[in-house]
Amino acid sequence: MEKGVSLDFEERFQESETIKGRSFKVLNILYSGHYLKLFISFIFFVLKHSPVWILPIVTANLINFVTEPNQYDTRYVWINVIILVIVILQNLPSQMLHISFMSKAIRHVEAGLRSTLIRKLQHLSISYHNELQSGRLQAKVLRDVEMIEMMSKQIMLGVLPAVMNIIVAIVVTGSRSLTVVSFYLIAIPISVILVYLFRGKLSGKNREFRQEIEEMSGQVAETVEMIPMTRAHGLEHVEINKIDALVQRVRGKGYKLDILEAFFGATNWVSFQMFQVICLLFTVYLAFKGSIPVGDVILYQSYFTSILMSISAVINIYPQLARGFESIHSVSEILFAQDVQEYQGKSKINKIEGRITFDAIDFHYRDTDQHVLTNFNLDVKPGESIAFVGESGAGKSTILNLVTGFYRPTKGRILIDGIPMDELNMRKYRHRLAVVPQHTILFSGTIRENITYGLAEATDEQVSAAVKLANLTDVIASLPDGIETKIGEHGDRLSGGQRQRIAIARAFIRNPDLIVLDEATSALDNQSERMIQQSMKDLIKGKTTFIVAHRLSTIRDVDRIVVMRKGRCVEMGNYQELINLKGEFYQMQQASNEN
Ligand code: ADP
Repeated sequence: MEKGVSLDFEERFQESETIKGRSFKVLNILYSGHYLKLFISFIFFVLKHSPVWILPIVTANLINFVTEPNQYDTRYVWINVIILVIVILQNLPSQMLHISFMSKAIRHVEAGLRSTLIRKLQHLSISYHNELQSGRLQAKVLRDVEMIEMMSKQIMLGVLPAVMNIIVAIVVTGSRSLTVVSFYLIAIPISVILVYLFRGKLSGKNREFRQEIEEMSGQVAETVEMIPMTRAHGLEHVEINKIDALVQRVRGKGYKLDILEAFFGATNWVSFQMFQVICLLFTVYLAFKGSIPVGDVILYQSYFTSILMSISAVINIYPQLARGFESIHSVSEILFAQDVQEYQGKSKINKIEGRITFDAIDFHYRDTDQHVLTNFNLDVKPGESIAFVGESGAGKSTILNLVTGFYRPTKGRILIDGIPMDELNMRKYRHRLAVVPQHTILFSGTIRENITYGLAEATDEQVSAAVKLANLTDVIASLPDGIETKIGEHGDRLSGGQRQRIAIARAFIRNPDLIVLDEATSALDNQSERMIQQSMKDLIKGKTTFIVAHRLSTIRDVDRIVVMRKGRCVEMGNYQELINLKGEFYQMQQASNEN
């Protein structure tokens, strides 16, 4: 990669909101700034490709000399040979330069497109991400970009040479014989139609076969996944028969496709050869009549073959081009997405006191009219810990999502220390916020890296303090490399409780002003939960905390409990007050005691 070349195309796409869906314009935006490179590459392409065009001319000239030696000077022969040798030798440097300039442009566009997509994904709102599956996003960044790169290469290395071949053949032939050029002009459309007809039939069959293969691989994956289950039920033969039937079907379809391909391939070849025979007979007839020199028969024959091959090549490349354009369409969905960050406020805060006010909040998720929160009001004092309880779907997690700013209220406002969230710079705000979710996401790296995620300047003292507070000391001592132990992808080598403690250490080291615990201990067994209870208490001491907890026993000590039903607050108070109230919370508590 050249240094100093920006890979950020994001702005180019923001400005061009109106061109959504027009693939050529998207290509144009991507390649703008690279046209000079592409043009130079094209010039070198013409140079490197010139032997292909010049060889038939030289051959014809030499044959003409042999057939009528007295009409030509021997110097004429030498000039032809020298030109031929020179154009052949220059192919080597020209080819290198052609590819070098082209590759610079294409690779830069590829890298830039990937980088821009990743940038955009980081900027798009969480609600946008929730709507699109992560697998599809990955496909866009990896597969679609590759398709676009391949398409660019196909255009430069497949379509462009083919078009140039046809142009050169027509121009050179036209300058020598108008009769032969007229013959070409009649033959070209007929051959295009022929190739197209063959391909159409074949690609239909190909698609059927591909679908069959895809179904088979899906089925195989499912069967393999189900082996323990199948074995446990003694159903091996059912699975084997299922796959066998599918394999037989694929075999049958595959054989039919092979035969069809052979038939069309042969028909294609025969008709092309017939065309060439016609061309040969036609030019031989012209030479016999004396309208053209004998050597030119070779020239026209070569050019005609080159025209037919070029047409066939372009038609063969066409599906790849179509796929490339489809991929452009696919990445455009992200490049032009307007659904960026939820909040765009400017006010930068370095410290949060911790007074959070929910002021008449209404909320519903996009694409549904169902209200998740209705006229929700709550005033949280600095340092207060608040737990939300209620049946599943009551809107507890939604409130946490509003606190983290992942979603915005549909109506009403949230105030942080009296400042409306709309006015806050979200990045600064989130630096002061720590979230411990139900399932902690760890990345492949050391434990230390996972704890200090995003805090490059964390000192050893800070790390060990966090480790101690999170009750991780014993865990780390038992690992081979201590805190520098690499945890596999997604942290598979750690237990649920250990992972949650890493999450707590992550929260400690940030020294946050605001803490969100989203069912942080729900996935743990009782013993693991007890082990992190104390760390949890230390973590939230004196800090405004929002808790969603599954087990009521874990929220005994919080300052206030909010009982939610259908997006509304139905009861509020501390543990004892709510028990004394003998209302909904009391019933929940009784029910959980019975279990
Ligand atoms: P709780 O945390 O109390 O179980 P939630 O806040 O997760 O409840 O959900 C409240 C309601 O919002 C539920 O009816 C749920 O189906 C709906 N909901 C949650 N997340 C989404 C989403 N991303 N899109 C649409 N509806 C959602």
